[in-house]
Amino acid sequence: MMTESNKTLLSFVIPCYRSEHTIEAVYREIVDVVSENESYDYEIIAVNDCSPDQVWTKLISIADGDPKFKAINLVRNCGKNIAILAGYHFIHGDYVVNIDDDYQCPVNELWKLLGPVESGQYDVATAQYAVKKESWWKVLGSRINASVARNLLDMPKELFFENFVVMKRFVADEMRSYINPYPYFEGLILKVTKKIAMVPMQERERGDDQGTGFTFRKSFSMFANGLTAFSVKPLRISTVLGSVFALAGFIWMVVIIIRKLISPAEIMEGYSSIMAIILFSSGCIMLMLGLIGEYLGRIYISINHYPQYTVRETRNINEE
Ligand code: UDP
Ligand code: MG
Repeated sequence: MMTESNKTLLSFVIPCYRSEHTIEAVYREIVDVVSENESYDYEIIAVNDCSPDQVWTKLISIADGDPKFKAINLVRNCGKNIAILAGYHFIHGDYVVNIDDDYQCPVNELWKLLGPVESGQYDVATAQYAVKKESWWKVLGSRINASVARNLLDMPKELFFENFVVMKRFVADEMRSYINPYPYFEGLILKVTKKIAMVPMQERERGDDQGTGFTFRKSFSMFANGLTAFSVKPLRISTVLGSVFALAGFIWMVVIIIRKLISPAEIMEGYSSIMAIILFSSGCIMLMLGLIGEYLGRIYISINHYPQYTVRETRNINEE
């Protein structure tokens, strides 16, 4: 990168969605914080995830005043993870900093987060917030996601990724080589490295009075993504469950036939329990089918090379 002298370059990657009123403050804070330390320089890659508001206009106006501010406009709303990966394609820095666009990330604590990664002891550092300022379904969704990640991806128990993360360049480079749809952020990081530090700090309120961009639907699809990405274990669990229920049903049937043969006069009770079993087992089957369908759909989308994202236009990016 053509930075003055040999400064360490920090690449800030910001997915932007409904943040026309906050992105400017986020930008100003980055500039202020980085200028505190002379041996660092910044570049900012702001990715507009096809936001319904005027944030792109805002990004253009910031980019026009600062060549280090690079803006990317996506054609479709692809979700936070893909927007971040899209941003990773344009980084030049030694370290990559992920932050949100709504002024919630305490960017003033940047140096605290950078420390463990620069020391060489860790490849990634994530903020660890004590109090969550999020809707209950978002908290629930991320908690379930984290526990799935723990069980399926051998994620360390205490580990929990927040929206403020610093990583070495190679981690982001490795992550962006994932070109399929449905990237799962935590999973991608953990595939690359397990040397992850957690740095306690306080999350701020949103910089505007808008609510979260994560509707219930988006949170649920994040959760479903975490459940099925990178692992066939859920599918195996449901196969095992399905077989157990089928076997139990078969044995039950045999028992009933034998009893009927031994004492034909006996009146079989338990119509309701049989109904219950039918309901239960057909429920399990549907669950299994649903899971299979989910994987199948992903395979289908992946083999069709459906692009993760499409860039409509960029600012301050002058590669080829
Ligand atoms: N985001 C995005 N696409 C979306 C929804 C959100 O890129 O469809 C980004 C958003 O710009 C922000 C981050 O994801 O940088 C977190 O969004 P938000 O602040 O709305 O969620 P929360 O703070 O509740 O996690
Ligand atoms: Mg937020």
